[in-house]
Amino acid sequence: MAGAGGAWPRAMKEKATSMLSFVYTGLPARVVFGSGTLAQLGAELERLGCKRALLLASRRHRAAGEAAASGLVAAVFEDAAMHTPVDVTERALAVLRDRQADGIVAIGGGSAVGLAKAIALRTDLPQIVVPTTYAGSEMTPILGQTEQGIKSTLRSPKVLPEVVIYDVDLTLGLPPALSVTSGLNAMAHAVEALYAEARNPVTSLMAEEGIRALGRALPRIVARPADAEARSDALYGAWLCAVCLGTVGMALHHKLCHVLGGTFGLPHAETHSVILPHAMAYNEPAAPEAAARIAGALGTEGAARGLHDLAVRLGAPLSLKDLGMPEDGIDRAVALVMKDSYWNPRPMDGQAIRDLIGRAWAGLPPA
Ligand code: NAD
Repeated sequence: MAGAGGAWPRAMKEKATSMLSFVYTGLPARVVFGSGTLAQLGAELERLGCKRALLLASRRHRAAGEAAASGLVAAVFEDAAMHTPVDVTERALAVLRDRQADGIVAIGGGSAVGLAKAIALRTDLPQIVVPTTYAGSEMTPILGQTEQGIKSTLRSPKVLPEVVIYDVDLTLGLPPALSVTSGLNAMAHAVEALYAEARNPVTSLMAEEGIRALGRALPRIVARPADAEARSDALYGAWLCAVCLGTVGMALHHKLCHVLGGTFGLPHAETHSVILPHAMAYNEPAAPEAAARIAGALGTEGAARGLHDLAVRLGAPLSLKDLGMPEDGIDRAVALVMKDSYWNPRPMDGQAIRDLIGRAWAGLPPA
């Protein structure tokens, strides 16, 4: 072993620096995944003991939801809106009380899911959620609500849906542009999970696999929007990314999107799409291991570069200017991002954040 004299201490040191230490909290949820799974809605309602559910669904999904619920729907509410306005929640609650509903079913994107969570927070009724976009709210104990134009976010186990039914068929008609931005929105959860302060080995495995699945599915969806296998892959990836969002805290990317969306009314998924490569470029030097895993999952040289190239290839929006942000809003956004201190792998540097937002505003590649 004498020959190991030089190598052994180094090996030990390498091992010591990669020693694991983490806290992992798994969140309870029953997940039903596949093609045609909406048909199981009635059985899932029965399992929960619900006989008179309130169905939250837009006109697009209402009839399918009512048919699948096998007579267990007492009322339908169609008016879910982005960012869960409290006055909409109160209107839905009035219907729920009037019809003495004993459970909630949401079929739709993050807006319908958000409304279900807001009602569950106030009533403790069980929820079955059927996501039709890749936004990921269904797997998180997080609820964002808006009152008088101000958005606040809370975390509570009360808002976590009891059952999530992923039905690939419901995503076949999601328009390609929306599929792309929603898919990149999902990927952002996994990217930040890989360098999150509370990262852990299980969530990181899910994050890597989620990025890999979406990275290979989205180009196929753009080429053939009704490709059922690609849709299945994308929804599978979106589920994994959603678990990441629910399990570990997020960092700079989500903070930037929250500020930009809230301050300038920019669209949710599109803002995530524009910001993701830039936030990754900012954090890449401080999170080399996460960057290597992201690049590996995408099959690219670098993480930020890979995310940017994917966005270009998918025809995703690339500039905040095109999303409607005014140029004189850049300094305001920087001030808001710098105001609260929060964890990020690379310390927050006002000038570098200004450069980041400036490049994203102009649609330039990440630095
Ligand atoms: P959304 O639910 O408003 O849906 C976007 C658009 O897609 C809508 O016009 C909707 O009608 C349409 N749509 C949905 N499914 C469709 C389908 N299958 N086919 C065709 N069109 C379809 O938006 P979103 O991007 O899904 O979600 C964004 C909202 O979710 C925001 O309010 C965001 O804050 C919230 N969100 C919350 C969390 C959380 O953990 N709390 C996580 C992610 C997103």
